[in-house]
Amino acid sequence: MVKARKYVVKKYFDGVPKRDDFEIEEYELPPLKDGEILIKAEWVSVDPYLRAYNRFNKIPYDQFSFQVGKVEESKDPNYPVGTKVVTHKGWCDYCIVNPSLPTAPGQSIYKMPDMQGLPESLAVGAIGMPGVTAYFGFLEICKPKPGETVVVTGAAGAVGSLVGQIAKIKGCKVIGFAGSDDKVQWLEQDLGFDKAFNYKTVNVTEALKQAAPNGVDCYFDNVGGEISSQILGQMNVLGRISVCGSISSYNEDPAQMPKATVVQPAMVFKQLKMEGFLVWRWDGRWPEAFAQLTDWIKSGKMKAREHISEGFENLYDAFVGMLAGKNFGKAVIKI
Ligand code: NAP
Repeated sequence: MVKARKYVVKKYFDGVPKRDDFEIEEYELPPLKDGEILIKAEWVSVDPYLRAYNRFNKIPYDQFSFQVGKVEESKDPNYPVGTKVVTHKGWCDYCIVNPSLPTAPGQSIYKMPDMQGLPESLAVGAIGMPGVTAYFGFLEICKPKPGETVVVTGAAGAVGSLVGQIAKIKGCKVIGFAGSDDKVQWLEQDLGFDKAFNYKTVNVTEALKQAAPNGVDCYFDNVGGEISSQILGQMNVLGRISVCGSISSYNEDPAQMPKATVVQPAMVFKQLKMEGFLVWRWDGRWPEAFAQLTDWIKSGKMKAREHISEGFENLYDAFVGMLAGKNFGKAVIKI
């Protein structure tokens, strides 16, 4: 019998999630049935969408997220013992999966891509869901051209730090906004952003007028709210906005959402195109992004920094730390 632990969400979050919104349950896993595999978690991800999706789930629910695990027992010949897999089983140390059962989009198990010697934790980061988000969410929606000016918010995070680097690879000028001077320095000095700003201390409109005197062609929006309205005000005619997330609102009460400057005049007079997306849109094409991202990282064109915490019992702290901006790059936990 295998003893397993999992985090169960017992309450709807009110503001920043609290420790006692979660309960760690210990239980014994049953013996495997035909077609099932037993997975031991090795790397577990914490992401902003865990906060955003809370209100759409019926409590209690098991805290989902992506994890890299290793098959420890198997009754599915396609997944022999030792196979590394990526699942959406989230904050648990052991789980049982039947890989042949149908799942909702994004929740199916898949074999870890060939990491070509790169750290396996990247399979929930730059060579995982956040990497695919940056790759397709930016390239397919912004359709950047060489020489264009690209702005990224949440620029020092998992998705944003990759978007900025993809934009540089595509020959664009890149301006990032992040929440500390250390992050600004990292973006400019290590990741090759042309300019970065601490959104907590600058006037965003003035900063952009200075750094992008010819206007902004593409905006990759991780944050939403007033900063996004201000950036939209600096866009060029026929500019493209990819709306990836709105982390500035996730801890807010939906009934009391902060108001932001009206963007419709900029949208109309600059003939802007704004499109939201979910990464599941490119479900069948994830391997294409994995291959390109792996190439870029291996060739040194892209850096995939991680913010690693250790220990199953530290998942909650890592989660709220990420929401508060402690992470440079992808927040991930070694189990
Ligand atoms: P991340 O950027 O690695 O981590 C979250 C970051 O958000 C923090 O490091 C913090 O950095 C920033 N932040 C927190 N509160 C903020 C606020 N009030 N205003 C501005 N920034 C704030 O997370 P990620 O995984 O890369 O996700 C980034 C965004 O992409 C999120 O909005 C997420 O929901 C979205 N996303 C969407 C999809 C999709 O399919 N559409 C998929 C993945 C992710 P600072 O220090 O800079 O504040």
